[in-house]
Amino acid sequence: MLKLKNVSKFYYNKGIIASGITKINLELKMGEFIAITGESGSGKSTLLNVISGLDSYEEGEMYINGKETSHYTEKDFEDYRRKYIANIFQNFNLVNSYTVYQNVELALLLNGYKKRQIKKKVLDIIKQVGLSKFKNTKVSKLSGGQKQRVAIARAMVKETPIIVADEPTGNLDTESAKDIIKILKEVAKNKLVIIVTHNIEQVEEYATRIITMNDGRIIEDRKLKEVNNDIAIKVNKYNKMTLFNKFRLGLRNTFNIKSKFFLLFSVFLFITLALSLEYASFKMTEEESVVIPTNRFFNDLSENRIIIKKADKTAFGAKDYNNIKKIENVDYIVENDIFLDTKINLNRNSISEYVTFSVGMNDISNFKEKVDVGRIPESDNEIVLQTSRKNYYIEENLDEVLNKNFLIEGISGDNIIEQLKIVGIKYNDNDKDYTGKIYMSSEQLEKLRVYVNKMNSKLRTFFNNQYDSYRTIVPSDKVEKGQAIVSDDWNYQVEERSVSGMNIIIEVQNIYYTDELDLEIEDTFSKNSFNRLTGYESFDKYRQAIFVNKEEYESLFNKPSYQSSVYVKNTENIDETVQELENLGMDAKKITDYKKDDISSNQQIVKLIKTIVTVILVIVLFFVSYFIIRIILKSRNIYYTTLRMLGSTYRDVKQILTIELFVNSSIAYIVSLILFSIIKNNIIKFTYLPMLIKYLGIKEYVLIYIILLLISILISRKVSKNLFKDTAINTYNEEV
Ligand code: ADP
Ligand code: MG
Repeated sequence: MLKLKNVSKFYYNKGIIASGITKINLELKMGEFIAITGESGSGKSTLLNVISGLDSYEEGEMYINGKETSHYTEKDFEDYRRKYIANIFQNFNLVNSYTVYQNVELALLLNGYKKRQIKKKVLDIIKQVGLSKFKNTKVSKLSGGQKQRVAIARAMVKETPIIVADEPTGNLDTESAKDIIKILKEVAKNKLVIIVTHNIEQVEEYATRIITMNDGRIIEDRKLKEVNNDIAIKVNKYNKMTLFNKFRLGLRNTFNIKSKFFLLFSVFLFITLALSLEYASFKMTEEESVVIPTNRFFNDLSENRIIIKKADKTAFGAKDYNNIKKIENVDYIVENDIFLDTKINLNRNSISEYVTFSVGMNDISNFKEKVDVGRIPESDNEIVLQTSRKNYYIEENLDEVLNKNFLIEGISGDNIIEQLKIVGIKYNDNDKDYTGKIYMSSEQLEKLRVYVNKMNSKLRTFFNNQYDSYRTIVPSDKVEKGQAIVSDDWNYQVEERSVSGMNIIIEVQNIYYTDELDLEIEDTFSKNSFNRLTGYESFDKYRQAIFVNKEEYESLFNKPSYQSSVYVKNTENIDETVQELENLGMDAKKITDYKKDDISSNQQIVKLIKTIVTVILVIVLFFVSYFIIRIILKSRNIYYTTLRMLGSTYRDVKQILTIELFVNSSIAYIVSLILFSIIKNNIIKFTYLPMLIKYLGIKEYVLIYIILLLISILISRKVSKNLFKDTAINTYNEEV
């Protein structure tokens, strides 16, 4: 059966060569029950390991069934071991977290047996070693002798012709040891059994041959009994492990050690939650910080816009506009471009909703596109609103906006400047561009001029030898030209205790012009006389106001345009157009030459940093969890080494581990999904989280699952590689 010719094995350890066995010559036959004995360090284990293909040899030849093995690859030895060898070890090498049944079954699962072939076989063997009562007991609860019986049972189910036992009784008391030898002897019929023992008396009764070793050599080889020479060799029929069996083991391993399950589960849950939330918060800030260029002074930053003023600082006239229109590249002119850049509030105060839009204004004749909803205005009080689709979730709230009257209200609230009806809506190209505009007839626009100019002007009053900038002026039909009416509170601010007849100078200043009114205080109002003197209702609101003649008021603000905007057809030639405008005696400047607010470039940097931080965080998270999981799995090395000793391949080990990690991470994943849905649906109330979770979509959930999968695969690969980088026996010795 086995023949060794001058076989030697050396150990290389830190430059020192030790000889394990030297020039061993042996012939072993089926039916033999061989006891090997000798002092510690005499080479018994080395010999057994070489015979069982667990370790390599350097010199000599070993024949298996007449075949020479020096050219055998690792794979060939694996094959040999599965067909021929069953090992029993001094320290049992069982899976403590498995039951007796599961331990014995394991050998068959790894050898590709089908489920229906397994059960009877396993139960029979367990009965043979006398452990039927304990078949569902965890191995960790058994005594040493019982454990070794399980090991024998496991060695037996794999019907191999050779059983190799290295000091199987070394850890047992005399009684149990006797038992084990007896069982082994029974097993030995028609097999080749090789056992190492210190206790010759124990085996003398059964052994057919006793070999004594010393210093790596055989010093005595004593045959006690003749054996039957023509026993047929029946090798173990094995197959590749089935996928089904891999799943069975993977699942079993997931749950069989509770503490390990929860540790892994916690890590996976942590990764899932951390990844999801980090990603969501990244998405959220990204959404919030989309960089739409802004400028404090200009609302409309279209690239084809040129701002013009007359070089002599006078107002534009019809002649100027005609000259400009002759320029080839000019698309259209916005004469009163102050409307574009002034933001006014459009308000609607219905019973249920308060809706407000902050908008610039434009002439409907400059509206070149189509409305998305509604229609183009047909009368002066109708307008088109252009804004972000997301502003006020306008698509969902159309009822509150379309065909509804909106008010432009004066500073004090109750003087309504204009009432306008939104009949058409146009959405901005970019949803994140929240700037708003309204388009209306030029007549309507003209009506807003006083209001707009007032908004853009600074007002100062000079009264009682001092300047104030907090007073407002209000137009009234009841006040005569050159006069002003104020509250009687003012009387207490002067020594004379009466302001009647005193002078007020009202100064208006903006970037285009300055103007002033020189008025005399005609009268003061009290609560009772307020309405009679001013024509207004709300006394409280106007206590600080100065009432002036309506015509004079309008003369302050109803000024012609000092600044216009030209829109070009082709932005590529915009510089030439600027030049041509300058030739006409104007100061012309592209809107793109005005500095954009610094905030936007800051936002870009912030966004970049956020992206980098997120990427680094995800990578760090990945590796931290990777290493934690590897540390947790270190405690499982013994288990996987055992699998290897029982004949499982690198692929098997890798896949069983992948399945285990995969099942565990999937559970963590599902738990996270449940948690998210609880938070999202406000079953448990959180302030910030529901909003955050909204940023996770199907795509993100799939991505996170893929990352978990990737971690599982990478880790099982790495762990399996480590387990298989050395010979089986070296890995085993390291782990045990
Ligand atoms: P036994 O089983 O009879 O006690 P071994 O076969 O374990 O003896 O050891 C034989 C010799 O080989 C001893 O001198 C031992 O020190 C050496 N040896 C065994 N295993 C190794 C190893 N992994 N590395 C280095 N030397 C080893
Ligand atoms: Mg030994």
